[in-house]
Amino acid sequence: MSNRIYNFSAGPAVLPEEVLKEAQEHLYSFPGAGMSVMEMSHRSKAYDKIIKTAEKDIRTLLDIGDDYSVLFLQGGATFQFSMVPLNLMPPKNKADYIVTGSWSKKAVTEAKRVGAVNIAATSQETNFSRIPKQDELKLDPGASYVHFTSNNTIFGTQFKSEPEVGDVPLVCDASSDILHKKIDINKYGLVYAGSQKNMGPAGATLVIVKKSLLERSSDELHTYLNYKVHAEADSLYNTPPSFAIYIIGLVAKWLINKGGLDAMYALNLEKANLLYNYMDESDGYYTGTAAKEDRSLMNVTLRLPSEELEQKFISESAAKGFSGLKGHRSVGGLRASIYNAFPKKGVEDLVEFMKDFKSNN
Ligand SMILES: *Cc1c(COP(=O)(O)O)cnc(C)c1O
Repeated sequence: MSNRIYNFSAGPAVLPEEVLKEAQEHLYSFPGAGMSVMEMSHRSKAYDKIIKTAEKDIRTLLDIGDDYSVLFLQGGATFQFSMVPLNLMPPKNKADYIVTGSWSKKAVTEAKRVGAVNIAATSQETNFSRIPKQDELKLDPGASYVHFTSNNTIFGTQFKSEPEVGDVPLVCDASSDILHKKIDINKYGLVYAGSQKNMGPAGATLVIVKKSLLERSSDELHTYLNYKVHAEADSLYNTPPSFAIYIIGLVAKWLINKGGLDAMYALNLEKANLLYNYMDESDGYYTGTAAKEDRSLMNVTLRLPSEELEQKFISESAAKGFSGLKGHRSVGGLRASIYNAFPKKGVEDLVEFMKDFKSNN
């Protein structure tokens, strides 16, 4: 298959075509270097420019000040489930977690190995179909930090604004909505995200951490587990995922050229509204699984009138070039992941397909 299809995968996920083409053009020999980025020493001048530019462009996009470190690590978001508590929980050894899905639960599992976890709120009783409201949060003012998951990739819900946590540092797993809109980074102590949903290929993890929090990282920690080590080494303590970081850099440049995160957010709203508005006008044929006010702009989860129809939809749509629409098993139904790089035309074409499918079934 040489032509590209519509890729609705939750992750690894669609990348901008312009980025893929540029990477392809320079794959064999990076301009001025005479070798592929994959073949370069991470200590070389050429690579230094690549990683520094990627960091600079991410700082520009999110308006990140000098009081924050921007790190490229490995191990995915999953590894951050451990690194966050190991570095930030001591000395109080207690933290608040807002549980809004499977990923938050996994984060809790690791945090409990380090200290006491207070579940500030959970929406498990409704199978995570909603985001807890501010007045439901039972926050401990003495907690080391408050952890939340900004976008719930599996359940299709998203925080529309940050939970208010007073002076306690806010920690966010933003794996599936990082860079989808501008956030005020100053509200956060730490933000982390695996790269393979909205930023690049798998293999790199972005960590943005307030420098004052690095004082909590104990010298007793294993070296690689220590944020301070990575911050002091500018993400080059050991060999970084060099090619993945290069692609993240190209994606950041692509976002800047598209007009930055405000322009991207406007487009994301347009794309998601196309889909949600049609679902809401379908007389109950397509029903969203998430509470309306908490619907995700990135992962749209929906059901059809029966599981048989859902199966049929998935196989007929796949035959027409709509890939990856099967929902996660814990929700069922369908999920359309429409990250930054997913084209608006793909959403329009999906809505047309949905209309046809409804009238034929
Ligand atoms: C995908 C995902 C993860 C896990 O990411 P890995 O990079 O595979 O470890 C964690 N949190 C959220 C919100 C995710 O979407």
